[in-house]
Amino acid sequence: MSTDLVEFRQRAREWLAANAPAGGTGPGSVAEARAFMAKLYDAGFSGISWPAEWGGQGLGQAEQRVFDEEAGAYTLPTYYFSIGLGMCGPTVVDLGTDEQRRRWVRRLLRGEDIWCQLFSEPNAGSDVAALQTRAERAGDGWVVNGQKVWTSVAQHADLGLLLARTDVDAPKHKGLTMFVIDMHAPGVTVRPLKDMSGRSNFNEIFFDDVHVPDENRIGEVNDGWRCAVTTLLHERLSISGGVGGVAGGRGNPASFEALRATCDTADPVVRDALVELYVRERALELFNARLGQETRAGIFPGARGSAGKLLLAELTQFRADLATSLAGPAAVAWDPETEGAGGLAEALSVAPGLALGGGTNEIMRNIIGDRVLNLPPEPRADKNVPFKDLKVGTQQ
Ligand SMILES: Cc1cc2nc3c(=O)[nH]c(=O)nc-3n(C[C@H](O)[C@H](O)[C@H](O)COP(=O)(O)OP(=O)(O)OC[C@H]3O[C@@H](n4cnc5c(N)ncnc54)[C@H](O)[C@@H]3O)c2cc1C
Repeated sequence: MSTDLVEFRQRAREWLAANAPAGGTGPGSVAEARAFMAKLYDAGFSGISWPAEWGGQGLGQAEQRVFDEEAGAYTLPTYYFSIGLGMCGPTVVDLGTDEQRRRWVRRLLRGEDIWCQLFSEPNAGSDVAALQTRAERAGDGWVVNGQKVWTSVAQHADLGLLLARTDVDAPKHKGLTMFVIDMHAPGVTVRPLKDMSGRSNFNEIFFDDVHVPDENRIGEVNDGWRCAVTTLLHERLSISGGVGGVAGGRGNPASFEALRATCDTADPVVRDALVELYVRERALELFNARLGQETRAGIFPGARGSAGKLLLAELTQFRADLATSLAGPAAVAWDPETEGAGGLAEALSVAPGLALGGGTNEIMRNIIGDRVLNLPPEPRADKNVPFKDLKVGTQQ
């Protein structure tokens, strides 16, 4: 490791020891999270590998990895920014105009704007190109009408990355356009949905005649599918290697380290299960390390990010099931006064969501088969049919 990286690690370690909230487990308040992001940015640890001209630190993936390793010992209050940092921001950096990058990137990295991703709809999840939210030209901008669902952190969001239909006469993948929408604009209604963790991690959103200026369009009109694929590639990489990844799972009460410390490791059945957990964690860690090395060498992982996302979803479910069966009744009943109590129930209740959000396990397998292994793709009878003639959503 070069001296610079050693120094960088030391600086990150000292800063985290002095500034990371002690014993943090949940997302904390939005105000605290914004304040933390501002401090993180000012210390030079937000957007470490993002281009300096748009507000990033202009360092490399190696520095980012060093920081992630050091930060793995803490639960940083960055949850509200995970969609922005993991997918919306990278999309703006990749596809936005210079003016858009100047407008949004630094604010995201400093915690001034929370972003959400507005792709999925009640009738368009796996088949997101079947979405029906419309954006129609109106004067110098657009008017948006429709509904989204499953939108993480939208109840706190300032901006949303929206995928909308702009041409119903074109086939479904060719009539979409991407926009950045002001979540505080008149006509945007956000309704939180409660999931089985008891919290509102996602929302349903309604757009009624929401005006979006044309300067908020990302990419060309009707080129939204290409933009969406960019976002989804970033999403899968950020899920498998990022905040929710193996590194971020160190504080997880269901991780190998945590279970080894608390279980009867003399029991051969327990040992066997722990070995399998260890192997799965290491496999994902090494897979991510390899993708990281390739990225540093200028090779974009592309669809292979789907393999990491699939591995993480399966690992998360496996360790939640294992931890629960090892803990027995203690996994589902606890003394609320005990520090960290309820952590296993939490791990168990969020695990299934990971097999859906960012694309389901089945869709990840389809992508790996089609774009990584070059197997024959799924037949697509609707490929050349105008969207308005398809029997999808409310058109059925
Ligand atoms: C925790 C969480 C957070 C999320 N956050 C966001 C967000 O912030 N923004 C956003 O836009 N979306 C978000 N989503 C939505 C997520 O992307 C969708 O749930 C996902 O794409 C699946 O869509 P669906 O729920 O409509 O299921 P469907 O697409 O209806 O799928 C139902 C079942 O059919 C299977 N299936 C569907 N098509 C195929 C196929 N071709 N081959 C094989 N099997 C198939 C699926 O695997 C699944 O098991 C989130 C979801 C979750 C769970």
